[in-house]
Amino acid sequence: MTVTSTQTLESPKTADADSADRVFHYVRKSKIAESAVMGNMVQALCGEIFPVTRSPKPGSPVCARCKEIYESLPPGGGSSD
Ligand SMILES: [Zn+2]
Repeated sequence: MTVTSTQTLESPKTADADSADRVFHYVRKSKIAESAVMGNMVQALCGEIFPVTRSPKPGSPVCARCKEIYESLPPGGGSSD
């Protein structure tokens, strides 16, 4: 065989972010605003950093750490810290 399969040779970055790509992350609105400065990268409550353009598919599970942190936050967003 002289033909090398390259089907699995996708971007390592894609594979690495695969798990994060399948869950919803909570992101503060202020962080989303920051993303414009940071090059469209946002940091979720859990610390996950990902492109703001990335949108999980409907039915994706919520990030457990994000949910835990989110529920510990005061309602209404509170004051900025
Ligand atoms: Zn998260």
